[in-house]
Amino acid sequence: MLIKFFNNLLDFIYPTKCVFCEEVLPINEKDSICKHCYLKIEFITDDREPNLSLFSYDDLTRFSILRLKYYNKIHYGKIFANMMYNKLLKIDNKKYDYILYVPMYIKKKKKRGYDQAEVIAEELSKLCNIPIEKDNLIRTKNTLPQSKVSFEDRAKNVEGVFKVLKPERLKDKNILLIDDIYTTGNTINCCGKALKDAGASIICYYTLAKVIYKKNLDLD
Ligand SMILES: [Zn+2]
Repeated sequence: MLIKFFNNLLDFIYPTKCVFCEEVLPINEKDSICKHCYLKIEFITDDREPNLSLFSYDDLTRFSILRLKYYNKIHYGKIFANMMYNKLLKIDNKKYDYILYVPMYIKKKKKRGYDQAEVIAEELSKLCNIPIEKDNLIRTKNTLPQSKVSFEDRAKNVEGVFKVLKPERLKDKNILLIDDIYTTGNTINCCGKALKDAGASIICYYTLAKVIYKKNLDLD
């Protein structure tokens, strides 16, 4: 009774907000996503291993991911990981030996204080009970964010910048590789190549959001 009272009081002082629209959620609401946003989010259901994504990257999801990346909303990472986990339950996730993530350049991570892909991967690792392999796949250069580079130059921007420090640990292993956004796939493909070169067996990409290029049907 007393615990319930204090929990309600805490909810009142620090209300849970929807991670997408930032609306205050009803007291005792466990999921940090409102019903309205839940209906608006375009969950991706027609994808298959080895390239999975949770939802479409649009205005609603973009601003939420921006808050996770640049505005210290680190707890969003856990909420997203929970959502990603539900999709993993529908596949044979036990075949994966390790969870890895597309790493940020070390100095950049120190400046920001966290790496959002690592936050998501860490939580997913706990939920799935698949060990996370940290500090093995590294980014050797502080590349420009892909969003600041033209589409033509994106492959070159990340070419050869990822390195596996202990390849012997990944030999013949099945890897679930996590990142936040899949746009052209250049960044995650470069990581995938580094893991393959290190001897990894199966590599499945799993990103939080994916840019879906829709054909403009109005065009002639
Ligand atoms: Zn909402």
